[in-house]
Amino acid sequence: MSGILVIGEQRRGELRPVSLELLSAGISLRRAGEEVAVAILSDSPDRFVKPLSLSGVDEIVTVKVGAAEFDPDIFESAVGALITKRNPDVVLVAHSVDSFGYAAALATRLGLGFATDVFSVERVDGELVATRGGYGQKVYVEVDFPGRNTVMLAIRGNVFKPPEQAASPRITIFDTPPVQSRATGREFIEMSAGDDVDMTAAEFILTIGRGIGEEAKVAQFRELADAVGATLGCSRPIADAGWLPKSRQVGQSGKTASTCQLYIAMGVSGAIQHLAGMKHVSTIVAVNSDAEASIFSVAKYGIVGDIFEIAEELRKHF
Ligand SMILES: Cc1cc2nc3c(=O)[nH]c(=O)nc-3n(C[C@H](O)[C@H](O)[C@H](O)COP(=O)(O)OP(=O)(O)OC[C@H]3O[C@@H](n4cnc5c(N)ncnc54)[C@H](O)[C@@H]3O)c2cc1C
Repeated sequence: MSGILVIGEQRRGELRPVSLELLSAGISLRRAGEEVAVAILSDSPDRFVKPLSLSGVDEIVTVKVGAAEFDPDIFESAVGALITKRNPDVVLVAHSVDSFGYAAALATRLGLGFATDVFSVERVDGELVATRGGYGQKVYVEVDFPGRNTVMLAIRGNVFKPPEQAASPRITIFDTPPVQSRATGREFIEMSAGDDVDMTAAEFILTIGRGIGEEAKVAQFRELADAVGATLGCSRPIADAGWLPKSRQVGQSGKTASTCQLYIAMGVSGAIQHLAGMKHVSTIVAVNSDAEASIFSVAKYGIVGDIFEIAEELRKHF
């Protein structure tokens, strides 16, 4: 019993980006001598071999199943057979609508340790510890799994940086017996998430924090963001107060600025939960009247000053 088994996700012929993030999470957990294997289930799994051939992956397991798209019965059966045969230490799946359809059922049936919506995982004294939000993301919950030989974790997307370097892992075929599904896929309907913007896709974000003081000031910063070509983001207190939609909140319980190149934080203190969503951005500019504010610890450029004065000055140039 050892090794990491990642269950890749695909939809409509495309590998889902979270699959690559799962690889990074798996690689980070690997102990000496252990391998990271990624399994991909599809009616034509070979097409996903190339995008999964990345540095740190030891093996790609292709599992040909009788369904082009996700199917809860077929996936539960095939992933269950894989786990039973290979007995991995850790199984990583995406925290997604697909895994909602089979992961908990499988974990219960096989007696696995199990945690969902995991955004951080590490080994502490050799034991696996996963961190997830609790009580509506108001607290962090650390989960351990005493006595479990295999632990299945559903990992939140947009948290781990995918591996980039191509490699040549070995390819294995896993045969799984055909299963009669109780589900019938009828059609795909594109759903709108109800979000007014996709913060995870924004390249330039101007974020406002509690430093703006009152709701009436939001308009001024919205106008500034539009003028400079940025997407307006916010810290959690602004979203909690309903001054901006939750979809614009950056941070641990909000969105990760995944593709952002330039992040301007105005009146944001830089709490660890906020930094979790943006500290990786290559160019961070912070404006705060408190020279000791934590946001300056991640900023490339910092201005100790009043956000209203700086905003006014900036506006003159656009
Ligand atoms: C489980 C959990 C999850 C969380 N998730 C998130 C999350 O996803 N995102 C998030 O943002 N927070 C999150 N939080 C909340 C986080 O801990 C902080 O409370 C929050 O980030 C603080 O927001 P802020 O920086 O806007 O406010 P404050 O911490 O109040 O900071 C306001 C800043 O504005 C500065 N300021 C005030 N007036 C001016 C002025 N005129 N000019 C310049 N600067 C000024 C102040 O010096 C101060 O630094 C979470 C908390 C928990 C417990």
